Amino acid sequence: SLSDRLSATFDRLRGRGALAETDVREAMREVRIALLEADVALPVVRAFVDKATEAAVGQNVLKSVTPGQQVVKIVHDALIEMLGSEASDLMLDVTPPAIIMMVGLQGSGKTTTTAKIAKRLKERGAKKVLMASLDVNRPAAQEQLAVLGGQTDVQTLPIVAGQTPVEIARRALQAAKLQGYDVLMLDTAGRLHVDQGLMDEMKAVADIASPTEILLVVDALTGQDAVNVAKSFTDQVPLTGVVLTRMDGDARAGAALSMRAVTGRPIKFIGTGEKLDGLEQFHPERVAGRILGMGDVVSLVERAAETIKVEEAEALARRMDEGKFDLNDLRSQLNQMKRMGGLSGLASMLPGVKQVKQAMATGAADDKHLVRLEAVLSSMTPKERARPEIIAAKRKIRIAKGSGTTVQDVNKLLKMHQEMAGMMKKMKKMGGLKGLAKLFG
Ligand code: GDP
Ligand code: MG
Repeated sequence: SLSDRLSATFDRLRGRGALAETDVREAMREVRIALLEADVALPVVRAFVDKATEAAVGQNVLKSVTPGQQVVKIVHDALIEMLGSEASDLMLDVTPPAIIMMVGLQGSGKTTTTAKIAKRLKERGAKKVLMASLDVNRPAAQEQLAVLGGQTDVQTLPIVAGQTPVEIARRALQAAKLQGYDVLMLDTAGRLHVDQGLMDEMKAVADIASPTEILLVVDALTGQDAVNVAKSFTDQVPLTGVVLTRMDGDARAGAALSMRAVTGRPIKFIGTGEKLDGLEQFHPERVAGRILGMGDVVSLVERAAETIKVEEAEALARRMDEGKFDLNDLRSQLNQMKRMGGLSGLASMLPGVKQVKQAMATGAADDKHLVRLEAVLSSMTPKERARPEIIAAKRKIRIAKGSGTTVQDVNKLLKMHQEMAGMMKKMKKMGGLKGLAKLFG
């Protein structure tokens, strides 16, 4: 699997400080191949690999996991982010009836999915659902939906011969309103290929129904074709979500990544069989796991990262407890902060110590500021960092010049340090970090 291959590529890096760009690029070649094998569209693969590379380069190698495992975790997280980090529900929180319109090519699974969703809403959400088929092209399409309605005990709009899709939609809307339905599902017709006639018909229906949800149904097995379909539908109607059908069997999970990237809309459900209970909510982490083919690597790495955070935070706490805090300490702490996700990351590791958090927040509000502070500190001599009180006007000018900053920046840093050092002294008097935590708990 991909996670095995990444581990093999990376495990020789054990013991090194940080993930180097050349090594990361090498691993990303594996990722790229795996994504293409999983049927992810090429532009999407490119965008993804760039993003994951950026996330990985420079990350410190954790002690308790192998670098390979760590990269797997980074790729996994990037996949989830790209897939949409949370399971996304239907939007039904409107004045009833909520209208769900299903669009897509013929054979993609619209009618089946319409019945699946109706069944789910009825059983899990106790919703009163009406289904209507607007498919007047395919013989017996409206009957197909009526049969499925019979199987699931969901009402379907009575069939009237000779009506256009727009006329049927009007009639369905009126029936849903008059008869107090919570949800109206509109199953539309599809063609074998995208064509403007289909698009115009669909737009006319969307105009009169103003659906709460327009769900694009795509067949996960159609791979690259599905991407093109998704593109053309996205251009024509305001999609709110995607349903990927035929994710049962050997469907390649990569289609999910492409769909999300191309439509910019969440995947709301996956179809997992012909039967009417073959519908699942879309879980990004499951699909990411399927693409990577990995076991417990992710949670292992999470735990390792936690351990390190705790160790470093404890070391920091010890120094603070001693009430000592010169600019050398500040400098090493800034370096630590940068590695640990910036100021907010550090502040989040000091639960209960509100004053520390506040000082950090006001003293150096963002990570760009952090970079400037670092530059200023690097332009000081070790002696200046150990005894900040010797930094007079002339030294300030030299430091500002050397660091490409201003005397004002140097002053800001000195002031921030003074405040922090003052706070540490106070904390020592109050019994160190633990005492302070008690006070502010
Ligand atoms: P429509 O033309 O878009 O309305 O597609 P249909 O709903 O009529 O489905 C076409 C075929 O795909 C039918 O035989 C369905 O049983 C089948 N189908 C739909 N969804 C799924 C799915 O998630 N998995 C599998 N294996 N088959 C499905
Ligand atoms: Mg159909």
